[in-house]
Amino acid sequence: MRDMRAVDLIARKREGGELTGEEMEHLVRGFLEGTVADYQMAAFLMAVCFRGMSPRELTAYTAALVASGPVLDWSDQVKPVVDKHSSGGVGDKTTLVLVPLLAAAGLAVPKMSGRSLGHTGGTVDKLESIPGFKTELDGAALRELIRDPGLAVVGQSRELAPADGVIYSLRDVTATVESIPLIAASIMSKKIASGAQVILLDVKAGRGAFMKTPEQAVELAETMVELGRRFNRRTVALVTDMSQPLGRAVGNALEVYEAVETLQGEGPPDLVELVLQLGGHLLAAAGKASGPAEGAALLEELLQKGEGWRKFAAMVKAQGGDLKALEERRLPEARFLIPWEAPREGYIHSLKADLIGRAAALMGAGRSRKEEAIDPAVGLVLDKKVGDPVDAGERVGLLHLNQREKLPEVTALLDRALVIQEQPVQAPPLVQRALGF
Ligand code: URA
Repeated sequence: MRDMRAVDLIARKREGGELTGEEMEHLVRGFLEGTVADYQMAAFLMAVCFRGMSPRELTAYTAALVASGPVLDWSDQVKPVVDKHSSGGVGDKTTLVLVPLLAAAGLAVPKMSGRSLGHTGGTVDKLESIPGFKTELDGAALRELIRDPGLAVVGQSRELAPADGVIYSLRDVTATVESIPLIAASIMSKKIASGAQVILLDVKAGRGAFMKTPEQAVELAETMVELGRRFNRRTVALVTDMSQPLGRAVGNALEVYEAVETLQGEGPPDLVELVLQLGGHLLAAAGKASGPAEGAALLEELLQKGEGWRKFAAMVKAQGGDLKALEERRLPEARFLIPWEAPREGYIHSLKADLIGRAAALMGAGRSRKEEAIDPAVGLVLDKKVGDPVDAGERVGLLHLNQREKLPEVTALLDRALVIQEQPVQAPPLVQRALGF
């Protein structure tokens, strides 16, 4: 490799110039090996925040992240191997419903998920509210489960795209998270390294999401779909609403119950619709349906027959979870149930997802720092959603609380989250755009 200095590469990026693949590799590998200092990497990341990346640079940067670790090989699997990612939200238990349904449709789904952070929830924490459920499996055990029953939900492996983990930690403390190319590369490097041939992306838009506006969400979705294409992965993305929580439950055990109810045919309409639309697109991309509508109809049939629930139960057992405790509703339970009431009559205009997520996190359902423990029992269940009429004093939701002393602060957040107006309100469309294959 010719003599390459990080300072020159940073300066070129700062001036809006383009870096080659070799130069991107030099920065990423050098950072991992310690020859590029963290202040140099931080300066480079900040330059990207201002200057962006060309498609060629983005591909090269993503390739360098992927190449920092192994890429899983699923070529021994008979079924098509697919993956799904959500950019995160409040009450987002989609994975818990969709993954079993996809497995029931004959796909193999090795799903790696995150933990909750800030106001957003994480699938791994939700599943761990089932006693005994293990989300850390070694490679051989994961492979076994993907063969049969065809699904597993585990924590994100630190071995895959390890450069992303260290760079993300640096971005977190240098105000360089909010850059569409950096986010796209970070998410897609992990998905590409996970080895699935078909990738479904649920890009959330709205107050409760990373991307606050539909325009930003569409740009991120387009960037990721294009990246997937460049790495020969069939990639589809849906931009979906996260202005209010998804479904009714927010909180770990509460969301697991709602996912189970959904798999047993009793789910809230928005969650069911989202699962069927996302899954329909994925089935079409995986060649299991002629189009998204046919895919959605297939999944609806599986849902009605209880096939998704059977796969979920098989997954709980296979990952060491106490299925009986789940079936008998013996997951951790909060001590206090406190109604959240409407201050006046009218129509629900907003249930601001970010503030509701913050209230749930404050109760103990989430964490503000990685090392904090969570309380699986707490959270809230909404009785009302945006567009619903409400009377003064009528219940909007039910809080499940263990620490009573948190109530004043939680209530203050919820008061700000709820907006009631006199005129009828139209709920925002759940699926705003579909992109990709
Ligand atoms: N999620 C990721 O994995 N990476 C980002 O950069 C942002 C969200």
